[in-house]
Order: sequence, then C-alpha cells, then structure tokens
Amino acid sequence: MFSYRHAFHAGNHADVLKHTVLIAILRHLALKDTALTVFDTHAGAGLYRLDGDYAETSGEAAEGFLRLISPEKRALPPANNDKLAIKSIAEGLAPAIQDYLDLVASFNAKGSHRVYPGSPFLIQRLLRDRDKLKLFELHPTDAKTLAANIAQLEAGRQVAVLREDGFEGLKKFLPPPARRALVLCDPSYEIKTDYQRVAAMVADSLVRFATGTYVVWYPIIPRPEAHDVPRKLKTLATKAGKSWLNATLTVKSSKLYSDDTGVVKRPGLPASGMFVINPPHTLKQALKDALPQLAALLGQDQHATSSVDSGG
Ligand code: SAM
Repeated sequence: MFSYRHAFHAGNHADVLKHTVLIAILRHLALKDTALTVFDTHAGAGLYRLDGDYAETSGEAAEGFLRLISPEKRALPPANNDKLAIKSIAEGLAPAIQDYLDLVASFNAKGSHRVYPGSPFLIQRLLRDRDKLKLFELHPTDAKTLAANIAQLEAGRQVAVLREDGFEGLKKFLPPPARRALVLCDPSYEIKTDYQRVAAMVADSLVRFATGTYVVWYPIIPRPEAHDVPRKLKTLATKAGKSWLNATLTVKSSKLYSDDTGVVKRPGLPASGMFVINPPHTLKQALKDALPQLAALLGQDQHATSSVDSGG
C-alpha cells in the first residue's frame, strides 16, 4: 500500500510553511463566534518524536523547525542576500512565525524540542468548545497511531478520526451544520492521481459549500502535474467567483547536482506552496511579513525565496 510516512518529514520546511499558514488562518476564523468545523483530509499520525528513529533517519526537521528555534543555527547562507528580510529578522520574528513557534513549544517541556505536533494537534489546540474537527487518515498504522494520540486528549465528540479516503469522505460533511468550515488538504502525492484528485475534490466542495475556506498544500517540483495544482485551483476559485491566495517557500535549487564522488543526485524537496480559497483578509499581510523571513532563515542556497500572490 502506501510507503509515505509523515514521521520522516515532520518539522521540515514544508511543515513550517504549512503549519504557519494554517495557524494564521485558524486564529482569524476563531475570532467569529459561530461554530467552525475543521476537516483534515490527510491527517497523518498527529504527533511525532523529533528524537525518534524516523526523524533522526531523515533529519529533515534539522533543516526546518529546529533551524528556526536555534539562534546559532540561524546563520544565513552566504549566498542569501535578502538584506531586507535579514534586517527584519534582527528586529524580531514576524508574528505569524512567532505564533507558530510558540504553539509548537507548548507541546514540549520548557526548552525541549522532542515532540512535533502535526496538523491535527495544532488545529485541536486552537478550537473552541463549540468547534469540531474531522480527521481522515487512510494508512492503517498512522490511522491507529492517530486514534491513540487523539484519545489521550479526551476531547470526546469534538474530534473524530475516520480511517477513510479523505478526498471522498469529505463530501458527506459539506455543507457543515453552522455553515462555517476550514478544509486542509495535505496529501503525500505519493500516488500520481493525487494531483487530479485534489482539484476534483476542491471543484466538488465549491459546489457543495462555496463559502468554506479551502487550503491545499502542494510540492513545487519539476513535474508538470505539480505545476498544474495552483493553476487549476486558481481557475476553480476564479470560476466560482471566490478570492484566493497562493503562498510559496523555496529553500534550494531543484536542479540535479553531483556529490563529492561525482554521483549525480536529486535534491530533496526544494519548495512547496499553500493555496487558499476564501482566505481571511488578514492572511496576505501576515504572510508578506513572515515568508521572506522564513526564506532567509531556512534557505540553503541562493535560490531561496518566497512569494505571496492573491486574486479574486
Ligand atoms: N497533514 C499532516 C500534518 O500536517 O501533520 C501530514 C499529512 S501527510 C503529508 C499525508 C498523509 O495522508 C499520510 O499520513 C498518508 O498516509 C495519508 N493518506 C494518503 N492518501 C490518503 C487518502 N486518500 N485519504 C486519507 N489519508 C491519506
């Protein structure tokens, strides 16, 4: 079945982007009294050990979350010359980044960084009593781990774990009772059809519930179907007359390179994006302040950059 396990990637630069954007959106949605339903169509295991075997094997958090929290690791690569971002970091981290770091820190004993919360736990922490969270996870082991992790919260009926296909499972819940919803769609794109299924799910959801906030994470890699994700989502939002925002974070070049022994290598994930339909009006400025700082702090070569586009 699936070989993707998020534990290998927890806390990497893609998680930093995804979770910073997710938290900023949720903070805004929580300002309004009406109950909110949040759907995480690809939830993962929920909590990850950064000192566990998975994370230590891949070491991806070291180039992501852990780099942000260690001032000594905040040394910028010499090639990174975004002077404005560097100056703004010296004046303090952008509120969206600080909020993300504080929330992750709240899952750890003071000063320790053993646990990295995945989207289910970050979301749950920001819910009010009247809000609901529906988590879909198809991988048998991760679904079991997620259910066990969520059980510890004793959140009762507020949080439901569904071992179902998130693309399909979402349909039966839209529109939600109080007509307020946030949908996070964060597939592993392990199966090529995930790219088409993301667009199909958003198209269907906009028909069922056009005013929901839809958030899609996507990898930025040299594959046509990956490039198509933001293009297709933009078309869907525009056709539905809805506003959209597209935020990207690049930490390194996507080009093949030769290692010391001359072996040609493919770099790990160089960049990713978050596409948001019906974003809160505060999101654009929050990300314009935060993303250049993330690019400067997490950048690994002179290709490090970020962007925030919006429309509608
Ligand atoms: N959203 C999580 C977070 O931010 O912490 C990470 C999710 S990870 C990128 C994607 C997850 O989706 C994996 O755990 C994988 O097993 C699961 N998955 C893959 N296909 C699925 C599907 N069709 N429906 C639900 N879950 C799926």
